Amino acid sequence: MRVLDMHCDTFWEILEAHKRGEESCVRRNFLQIDLEKMRKGDYLLQNFAMFVAVDRCDDALDTVLRMIDLYHRELDKNADVIGKVECFEDIEKNRAQGKMSSMLTVEEGAVCRGELYVLRDLYRLGVRMLTLTWNFENELGWPNTVARLPGYDPKRRYGLKETGFEFVEEMERLGMIIDVSHLSDDGFYDVCSAAERPFVASHSNARALCPHSRNLTDDMLKKLSDHGGVTGINFYSSFLRDGSDFGEISDIVVHMKHIKNVAGIQCIGLGTDYDGFDSGLELGDCSHMPLLAREMSRNGFSDDEIDAVFSGNVLRVYKEVLS
Ligand SMILES: [Zn+2]
Repeated sequence: MRVLDMHCDTFWEILEAHKRGEESCVRRNFLQIDLEKMRKGDYLLQNFAMFVAVDRCDDALDTVLRMIDLYHRELDKNADVIGKVECFEDIEKNRAQGKMSSMLTVEEGAVCRGELYVLRDLYRLGVRMLTLTWNFENELGWPNTVARLPGYDPKRRYGLKETGFEFVEEMERLGMIIDVSHLSDDGFYDVCSAAERPFVASHSNARALCPHSRNLTDDMLKKLSDHGGVTGINFYSSFLRDGSDFGEISDIVVHMKHIKNVAGIQCIGLGTDYDGFDSGLELGDCSHMPLLAREMSRNGFSDDEIDAVFSGNVLRVYKEVLS
């Protein structure tokens, strides 16, 4: 059981601490994820999202470039324990050297300003996954919250925009993973019809159990699974149980059971969203991950199924998409 987590906002938090004049780094900090806690939690790979809150910064591209610079400086300082992943083989190479792996991802397509050259430049900087939208409309499409936006027209479709389709095509050509978490439902279906390779919802749960638009309906889960994709189970209580402000391990396992029933074990992964929410949770930080495996085992998941959810399913997608 080694952990592969598709989403965390740790670097946004480190950057925010620096802005407040506080010291913070990825090796050891007071956040939910740092390298020492990852060691304890038996991590294979962490996706570090360069999350850009467009409502809290003036220039999304400038912010993401600063964050990517910080990411590389931090990773270079810790090359003794964690290695960057640019192609699939890097994961095995790092493992063979006794190191964990780190994948650079970006959450918020707006950082590209609708320009394919920026997307390609981000790829050259090491970005291997892009979340097409966050919680606002951008050049690529609309967010899951579209029905709450001013001027919303229930009679029209809010799918991918033309530029969004261009991005999907270019990302597949480059070998960058498409992430539909946060995207509108219409956008999800557009990615489904346009994408030729598997894609992911890096941090989304089942809407049938928790009726939040950030979660995926049963039909979306089935379509994602048919496409060879994976959804990363999110630990944020608001996406686990309606009205809950404390995420319990059992809440997480209930979502896994449901998704296994409707879409199959092969489409379940982890997308903790650690350092991206402020509600409480039983798995207080990433060192506690073995407790989740234990609870899954108690609930009838076999060792093979636990391995598939913890890393195998996402590794399958990475192998197919990363060139
Ligand atoms: Zn998110």
